[in-house]
Amino acid sequence: MDGPNPIYRPVARLVRGVPVSDGAGVRLNRLIGTPQLEDVDPFLMLDEFRSDDAADYIAGFPDHPHRGFETVTYMLAGRMRHADNRGHEGRLDAGSVQWMTAGRGIVHSEMPEQENGLMWGFQLWVNLPGKDKMTTPRYQEIPPEQIPTAALPGGVTVKVIAGAIAGVRGPINGIATDPTMFDIALPANGRFSVSLPKGHSVFLYPFIGDVEVGEPATRLAHGHIALLGEGGAVAIKAPQGEARVLLVAGRPLGEPVARYGPFVMNTPQEIRQAVTDYQLGRF
Ligand code: FE
Repeated sequence: MDGPNPIYRPVARLVRGVPVSDGAGVRLNRLIGTPQLEDVDPFLMLDEFRSDDAADYIAGFPDHPHRGFETVTYMLAGRMRHADNRGHEGRLDAGSVQWMTAGRGIVHSEMPEQENGLMWGFQLWVNLPGKDKMTTPRYQEIPPEQIPTAALPGGVTVKVIAGAIAGVRGPINGIATDPTMFDIALPANGRFSVSLPKGHSVFLYPFIGDVEVGEPATRLAHGHIALLGEGGAVAIKAPQGEARVLLVAGRPLGEPVARYGPFVMNTPQEIRQAVTDYQLGRF
């Protein structure tokens, strides 16, 4: 059943991305993890990288550590190569997803495997509950052909990365925060709706076109991220023309967050331990 009023989840916050530079000098549009939107529990960061100028991405992300959370890379265009200090290596092609549970720690690099052309995609950081922060690192690497598409009425299609809709279940499994991650394509005048678990945090990011969210509708223009409030289903319309929307939802952890660069723990003491362990080569 749909939850309490309102019938559709309303837009609770509407925020524009912030241009930042990260890694060895990669230009990014940061949507979560900014002064305007520090986090959306359990989501700690969302970056969009999109450029056809190699100068914006060629420096990549040389060796750097992670501990205590998960990084999710979803490629829309271009190719990246990933390699870590445990000998795990792979290529992320356009349309693929890498869901990396860093757990107790890895050191890795994420470098472009192209010298020109469009590089476009997202990196999302998902927090881990305290009990899982020191878990063994785990990778789920899904090539494009293994991401199923749900065909919905009215010509709407959904690439289901995590969670399920219309009987189509995404390949990502065993994640503590029970996430939903959809790439939704709406034709002009298309309508989409989905019921998500009550209490889950939900955000929407239209990365092509503009959409309207909820009922009564709030306009969500390209380049803005919407954090939705409590309610029933998520409703999206595309009255202005075709659009693509990233929908992400997950169960909030409600735990204290101690954050220092690529380490996300519960307490400052655990952060100090992470820094020490990294310096001593224990990752
Ligand atoms: Fe990384």
